[in-house]
Amino acid sequence: MVRISILLGLVPLLVSASPVPGPDPAKDQLFFNCLYDGDVPTVLQSSANFGQLASAYNLRLQIKPKVVTIPTSTTHVSNTVKCAKKYGFQVSARGGGHSYSAQGLGGISDKVVIDLQNFHDVKYDSKTQLAEVGGGARLGNIARKLYDQAKRGIPHGTCPAVGMGHPSLGGFGISSRNWGLMVDQIVQVQVVTADGSLKIAKKNYNGDLFWALKGAGPSFGIITKFWFKTYAVPESIVNYSYRFQPGSVAQAVDAFMNIQTFARTAPKELGLGVSLWGSGVNFELSGAYYGKTQAQFNALFQPLLKKLPAPTSTTLDTRGWIDTLLRFAGSGTLSVPETGYNEHTTLYAKSLVTSNKAPIERKGMENFFNYAAQQGPGAANQGLPWFVIINLYGGGNSAITNPALLNESSYGHRDTLWNFQFYTTMSNGFSPAGNTAAINFLSGFDKVVRRSGDFSYVNYADPTYTRSQAQKLYYGKQLTRLSLVKKKWDKNQVFWYPQSIDPAR
Ligand SMILES: Cc1cc2nc3c(=O)[nH]c(=O)nc-3n(C[C@H](O)[C@H](O)[C@H](O)COP(=O)(O)OP(=O)(O)OC[C@H]3O[C@@H](n4cnc5c(N)ncnc54)[C@H](O)[C@@H]3O)c2cc1C
Repeated sequence: MVRISILLGLVPLLVSASPVPGPDPAKDQLFFNCLYDGDVPTVLQSSANFGQLASAYNLRLQIKPKVVTIPTSTTHVSNTVKCAKKYGFQVSARGGGHSYSAQGLGGISDKVVIDLQNFHDVKYDSKTQLAEVGGGARLGNIARKLYDQAKRGIPHGTCPAVGMGHPSLGGFGISSRNWGLMVDQIVQVQVVTADGSLKIAKKNYNGDLFWALKGAGPSFGIITKFWFKTYAVPESIVNYSYRFQPGSVAQAVDAFMNIQTFARTAPKELGLGVSLWGSGVNFELSGAYYGKTQAQFNALFQPLLKKLPAPTSTTLDTRGWIDTLLRFAGSGTLSVPETGYNEHTTLYAKSLVTSNKAPIERKGMENFFNYAAQQGPGAANQGLPWFVIINLYGGGNSAITNPALLNESSYGHRDTLWNFQFYTTMSNGFSPAGNTAAINFLSGFDKVVRRSGDFSYVNYADPTYTRSQAQKLYYGKQLTRLSLVKKKWDKNQVFWYPQSIDPAR
């Protein structure tokens, strides 16, 4: 029989292949033989294309997996998990590869990676109005295909190349206050569990697994297919952006406090974010409004604008669904290569999630804008470029905070007002000094605003958190139940990575 690995031009797995260095090369070899016997397309460390395949989107993190498999069928996924379980190796799915902490590569070296790039189909079913989406699809391709097939859409994040880790862990985008997070749209999944079997999970069938996969997916299985709820997309969306250059920290704080008061009762049709683009206290207030007309938007927004400094620039227009996605993607196209994606950056990011019940106090925003004011080129951040985006999740009748969703998924923070993302890219590479500067700089930002009781967002994974910190900050009250479900479905932690869920003892 001709092996698939040979057909794909990958390094064939022969017993005679040179052993991969490791603490137990003999065990490694037995594992590779097991993959070979299971016909799994496999790329070894010694393969010519291993380096490209195994390099993280975030080049700050240098991780070398034990092996990468590139399945073309669910049987290959099952066989990889069965072999890993048999020989005691830990497994991670790689979707779009965009995890800030390279979790798609296992988060640390020497893990087994299942690259899902061949699972990229997107099909709309007009009878059920559901989208059937492969576990290795990317957001831009999903949006483009659903629109082209039926003018339908799903709420999700802005970057077209982000993959299915996004809905497995949450998934916020410009239409999320209106329709919910991407995770809230999952109605069924096909998943390979820790014993290597292929299962369906939905609310009334393997319901505990389904609940856990919706919010903590990577700790519970390899999702090979998602079924998502879809929406008829609006073609008249008001896109807005106002830029401000407050004359002082006090003016910036006043402005934010007014925005927060407004945001707490804002209708769900309004998507809103406050962003600082690395230039002191200058900020942008921008988003999209899913009401029908600019007149409606103006009626809603003018009372707020009257309380803010005069904007230094304004953009206000009405666009269709695809144009709106493109604007937020900052890109000319939503389409991304389905296989062979090979783009990278170098970054460090942190997040801070605040409760609807505890709006940020004036003092907190004074600390925040004071810190921002000090971060010019050559200042305390050592010249690292940075931005902060403060996205509105809650307030008013936001679909994200709908209390009816509380027990529908393991997503940790149903009660969120703001999600702060602190972000820096390392223009000075990933030298030890650059790394330390970036971590100290953003930790300082986070620290001046964070109160006890604030949380963090798992999709902006921060590898500096310890395992226990991460679980608590990402999952809050959901953690106890998650640990019980982990014990039932994966007590030996086949799906382990540095911030995965621990099984209950
Ligand atoms: C440029 C950029 C823009 C972003 N914009 C947004 C945004 O607007 N809103 C937002 O909420 N987030 C945003 N994010 C964060 C993004 O949602 C997360 O990084 C997300 O987890 C990436 O998913 P991935 O599949 O691309 O990454 P991967 O690294 O492949 O996966 C991330 C995690 O999910 C797991 N995983 C992936 N696929 C599967 C699967 N099929 N089954 C089981 N587990 C799986 C992986 O094992 C890993 O643990 C952005 C990130 C970047 C880099």
